[in-house]
Amino acid sequence: MGFNLMTFLQSPRQVFVVRCAIISVIASIFTLHSHAEVIKLTASCDVELGAINAVCVRSSEGSVAVYGWDQAVKHVLLTHGRRDVVWRARKAAESAKVVAPARERDLLENGLDYWGRFPQARYHDYAQQTTKVPSHSWTVNQWVEGGDAIHLSGTRFEVIETPGFTRGAVSYVAVLDGKRVGFIGDLIYGDGKLLDLYSYQDAIPVAQIRGYHGYGARLADLVASLNRIIDAKLDVAVPARGPIIPNPTDAATKLRQRVQAIYHNYLSTNALNWYFKEDRMRACGRRVLGQDADIELMPYCEYDTTPDWIYENSTSRLILSETGAGFLLDCGSDRVIEAIEELIQQQAVDKVEGIFVTHFHDDHTDAVAKAVKVFQSPVYATEEYSDLLEQPAAFHLPAMTENPIANIKVMKDGATMKWHEYTFTFHFFPGQAFYHGAMLVEKDGEKPVFFIGDAFAPSGFDDYCILNRNLLHDHEGYLLCLEKICDAGDCWLINEHIRHVFKFNATELDHLTNRYRERRNLIRETVAWDDANYAVDEQWAVFYPRSETLSSKEVKTIELRITNHSAKARDYSLKFNLPENVVSLDKVFQKLTVQAGSMGTASIRLKARGRWKDHPWRIITADIETDGIHVREWSDAYLTLKEVTR
Ligand SMILES: [Zn+2]
Repeated sequence: MGFNLMTFLQSPRQVFVVRCAIISVIASIFTLHSHAEVIKLTASCDVELGAINAVCVRSSEGSVAVYGWDQAVKHVLLTHGRRDVVWRARKAAESAKVVAPARERDLLENGLDYWGRFPQARYHDYAQQTTKVPSHSWTVNQWVEGGDAIHLSGTRFEVIETPGFTRGAVSYVAVLDGKRVGFIGDLIYGDGKLLDLYSYQDAIPVAQIRGYHGYGARLADLVASLNRIIDAKLDVAVPARGPIIPNPTDAATKLRQRVQAIYHNYLSTNALNWYFKEDRMRACGRRVLGQDADIELMPYCEYDTTPDWIYENSTSRLILSETGAGFLLDCGSDRVIEAIEELIQQQAVDKVEGIFVTHFHDDHTDAVAKAVKVFQSPVYATEEYSDLLEQPAAFHLPAMTENPIANIKVMKDGATMKWHEYTFTFHFFPGQAFYHGAMLVEKDGEKPVFFIGDAFAPSGFDDYCILNRNLLHDHEGYLLCLEKICDAGDCWLINEHIRHVFKFNATELDHLTNRYRERRNLIRETVAWDDANYAVDEQWAVFYPRSETLSSKEVKTIELRITNHSAKARDYSLKFNLPENVVSLDKVFQKLTVQAGSMGTASIRLKARGRWKDHPWRIITADIETDGIHVREWSDAYLTLKEVTR
């Protein structure tokens, strides 16, 4: 059944209040701590729209809040446990009893453990779960799960399992003044949209896929949750973020169709069809698209054996010169070093004269620093990712090595280098990951070979891990890589995970380009904000360095880097949330303007103060507000106290 918010509200006065509230939300976008107006959703239910909406359900027996409320209430209901949402309930929780989903217990209670493990867990991370984890433990008075019905202050709330955005989220449904009202957390944004796609990355046990390869894994949960919301026949839904949803059934139906279209597109050009094969791809597809869904997979492109001037070992390759010299690509383990030492002993190779690192993942970098020492050779990368290789501790990205690589020879995108009978061209090549390069190798009389890191396989894109930051515009991300492959002309591609060379023909290149653009357009229709990149770039706002050591003596500067993916310049209002024992030499409220498609940087100087009780770490977070985007406790950095030696 359809539902119109304006006709649903019971008096012209209420319609007026709603209109004022909408106008005030638009106006409040430009200030961080504006006072939002309250909408009377029903006679007994008030909603305050804001960065996180707040709800108060009143009865003669007392009041119940959902998400949060600033006046005293008896209970506050949480739909999920993410830090960027639960902050809204902090005030209510000072006096109210907290009700939360049992399956979110880990997020709500174990934040201390999570952050305690972070210094080690941030490396070789294949789980790809959000770091928007509370930095303290919540006291929850009542844990609920799907099927429960709870009676609070005279109101009955049904609990519906609605995982997706998080692993254990629930929705609450109450009949208020004759209307079925759903409090759905971050299940749906507006008219059938999502906040992002990266939050849905997870393992897919049925296809033996771990978090790292699980693009949109929890879209399967989302689809099931949307079906439950459709079955619940809601008259109106109040999400944790975004506008009130006047027709939840329509919005859920639209969102289900949209995410299925995205996932269908994703599978149709996916590298995992080469590594994991068709059965596992179909198992993935059935979860999201349904048992009988049509699942399309791109046929493998042409592939052949690797030319004999390229030595293969694990995720490394060694280019062999007629002079006896070798040039190494990547070094993920000691075994590669040992194998090359053996080649040297057998006099198949004299020496290693250089190392090119295609990207930062541990299977390509763990042993690079050691190889540099053993072979006494320079190491090369392009400027877009050399910093990450030199100081991984400044970042948090999937599958990072903890071993920094020193003294990188930083090459410009497009720079060439003669090496014996070969010409190398170095490329920024943001394929599998944003921080990624490639090297085109040419020599007379041979088909050129383009070493493309992990960017493509004969069945398509290695884009299964969204946390790698695969940006979607033309001339960036994979679309830039496809342009570079076209420009390179007739050449073989090498992905070091694949014991072949392969190449896409013109039709296949067109197909990949068109499908990728199609996916971008589908994502753009689905994302809450004004550009598709916000759905795939968890790090559009990120602290740099991502971790820092503080003392009371030394001042450290930490940056908040904001990439404006929108097609317009943006003014940002920022607030740095300082944790206990950390003082700032700069204002915590700051302004920043960033041009369209650029990155801007705000910074803050920090020092430690006093004795750090409980644990030796603190989390600094940032609130960010700009036209249509309002997030709190969003980006995070990990601060540790420097041991003072006496
Ligand atoms: Zn790899």
